[in-house]
Amino acid sequence: MTKAKGYAVHDAKSELGPWNFERREVGPHDVQFDISYCGVCHSDLHQVRNEWGNSIYPMVPGHELVGKVVKVGSHVKKYKAGDLVGVGCMVESCRTCKNCKEGLEQFCAEGAVMTYNGYERDKKTPTYGGYSNIVVVNEDFVLKVSDKLNLAAVAPLLCAGITTYSPLRHWKVGKGHKLAVLGLGGLGHMAVKFGVSFGAEVTVLSSSPSKKDDALKLGAHKFVVTSDEEQIKSVLGYFDFILDTVSAEHDYSKYISLLSTNGVHICVGAPPTPSQIHSFSLIMGRKSLAGSLIGGIPETQEMLDYCAEHNIVSDIELIDIKDINKAYERMLKSDVKYRFVIDIATL
Ligand code: NAP
Ligand code: ZN
Ligand code: ZN
Repeated sequence: MTKAKGYAVHDAKSELGPWNFERREVGPHDVQFDISYCGVCHSDLHQVRNEWGNSIYPMVPGHELVGKVVKVGSHVKKYKAGDLVGVGCMVESCRTCKNCKEGLEQFCAEGAVMTYNGYERDKKTPTYGGYSNIVVVNEDFVLKVSDKLNLAAVAPLLCAGITTYSPLRHWKVGKGHKLAVLGLGGLGHMAVKFGVSFGAEVTVLSSSPSKKDDALKLGAHKFVVTSDEEQIKSVLGYFDFILDTVSAEHDYSKYISLLSTNGVHICVGAPPTPSQIHSFSLIMGRKSLAGSLIGGIPETQEMLDYCAEHNIVSDIELIDIKDINKAYERMLKSDVKYRFVIDIATL
């Protein structure tokens, strides 16, 4: 075993603090890398506080890891020491089910092995995430990262990036479409960048009036304050797609009414509580309510390559790891521009 250090939480009521643990030795198909940066996803906060009811402690969160390879196993073909790499939300899957074979490992029939708050395929060894100095991952779940982009700003692409890229690609959102991005946070600001890059007309629907200038700078064409009834009325029946990134309880029917005929409301935000929606809000206008989970490994690499080609990264605030608990409080107040990234050198 190899000694590792990180930040962990030991129960749902405590704060994150320093913790020492062990990683497995590098196996024949493994890559070990030094983590340089790790993005902070709202899913980290949901899981640290057991808001989804599935938390395993101690927990080392973090599923937006980037860094430099230090060691590879004897059979590793794709990577060598010194390469820049990343790891997102998954580190293994069964590889044989229909979904895995189609590159949709996130929907693995046996359950993908999540980067943290999960167990390895043996169902008993816990996985620990990227708020730590090193990681060992099978080469097939390691992504290539371009050296052309700011590495710290690449980290959030591994979750916020792929989670918004994948549904926009699946529904072929682009030229001629009116796309609304609901919630301008980590996922939301990436959705704006991709939506604009794919040629859609993008509107940000936000509960924070102060984010208007930023939204327009990110490339959005319109900005609507969701608490302003007049502004909401002006976009009734307007959008082809809504990409919903909101992390807290909200009224889905209100937003579905902003869709045009055949419009699709895509949930990626994962509030802890269930919501009620009236079937008439879908029936009238043949609308769909859909969801999407991160993206598979091939599509994650495609997204990273697309970002390198089009010079797309996340807008970040780099933080010391000792400020992680304060960062969570700010994230809860929607006060992040637009993704916190931990500088792992401060660990
Ligand atoms: P985030 O940075 O905190 O952004 C969430 C945004 O939602 C906020 O910036 C805010 O935008 C809006 N919001 C927050 N509370 C609200 C409230 N009470 N009412 C209305 N709007 C509110 O979070 P994130 O990291 O982007 O993650 C967003 C959600 O996606 C989380 O639930 C996360 O777990 C989930 N997620 C899902 C996947 C997936 O695969 N499906 C992957 C990653 C994350 P405004 O200020 O503009 O209103
Ligand atoms: Zn995430
Ligand atoms: Zn599978």
